Amino acid sequence: MIKVLDDHERTLAFAEVALGQIKSLRQTAIPRNYEIWYVYATGYNSPLNKIINETLARNGKLTESDLEQIYETYLSQIKTSDRIDKVGARVIGEIDEVMTLIGEALAMSANYDATLSGASRNLSASQKPDQVKTIVETLVKSTHEMRVTNKALEERLSLSKNEISNLQHSLEAIRAESLTDPLTGLGNRKYFDRSIESAVESAQASGEPLSLLMFDIDHFKSFNDSYGHLTGDQVLRLVGMSLKQTIKGQDITARYGGEEFAVVLPNTALRQALTVADHIRRAVMSKELKKKSTGEILGRVTISVGVSMLKPGDDTDSLIERADACLYAAKRNGRNRVICEVDPEYTAENHTQVA
Ligand code: GH3
Ligand code: MG
Ligand code: MG
Repeated sequence: MIKVLDDHERTLAFAEVALGQIKSLRQTAIPRNYEIWYVYATGYNSPLNKIINETLARNGKLTESDLEQIYETYLSQIKTSDRIDKVGARVIGEIDEVMTLIGEALAMSANYDATLSGASRNLSASQKPDQVKTIVETLVKSTHEMRVTNKALEERLSLSKNEISNLQHSLEAIRAESLTDPLTGLGNRKYFDRSIESAVESAQASGEPLSLLMFDIDHFKSFNDSYGHLTGDQVLRLVGMSLKQTIKGQDITARYGGEEFAVVLPNTALRQALTVADHIRRAVMSKELKKKSTGEILGRVTISVGVSMLKPGDDTDSLIERADACLYAAKRNGRNRVICEVDPEYTAENHTQVA
């Protein structure tokens, strides 16, 4: 008969697998490594299991830098959604608190109003000094209570103000994180989609030129197959770094997909865009790749780049499609080159209609 494990037994079993792996691979039993192996044992994060299995099959071990990279790539993203949940709960909690405070302040003010109206009615009906004295004493007492409550309210609101400002910062940080590609630190696809849309709109409104570069690493699959996915990830970082070093100012850089990147160049016509594209191509090519753990020289990678420029009647999609078609023309014509939409390699394949 199959025994169904309860939660307690199941989590203990995962914990044992995690500790077992840490022991047998002689890794440090720090929380990060434990978390990696615990998640591995659950099997819930299949890309994490895949990369671990591949790396172990290839190298027989996981180095400190492998573990660090696996954690950053496959687990820190999950942390972002946890953080969104936590900050979201705090925002809701704070709104509840402030609503309660407002309710209390309104009730207090209605009470005080009732006391004042009562006092005013009683005063006009009373002649005796004793009665007047009692009414005034009641008024003084309620005014004092009102002041004490107001003071407490003020202090609580000032705490709320601080908490709301902290929450605002947390939300801003989460927002920035949700638009960033964790591997390269460049903008992610969501960031690119938003940014290109608004850059195209403002170029169309102002009549300024705008160019787009799309580039893709050449023969990256065989690089991954030879040296492993983790080393491939390091190359993606290096390409991201070369891009950051070459691009400045208002230009928009993003990781468009797996090993494809995009750069939006506002205020830039085709000729200058070609120069930028070639700078990036050379910067990537100039880096000699070395495996961190062993010092082994892995050679160089190259990129192919497609360049398009916004023209009348364009929208974001047509601009991207042309840059993409140029990129594939660059691939077909030998790779490690820049092709733009006026180059014969592109026009020959894309039957551009001339008016
Ligand atoms: P081409 O010159 O025609 O672009 O050839 P290619 O091998 O680069 O192109 P292909 O599209 O066949 O392969 C892309 C490879 O990029 C597949 C995958 O192994 C790799 N890749 C995509 N995303 C990632 C990633 O996040 N990390 C790593 N290490 N590799 C990735
Ligand atoms: Mg490629
Ligand atoms: Mg590709």
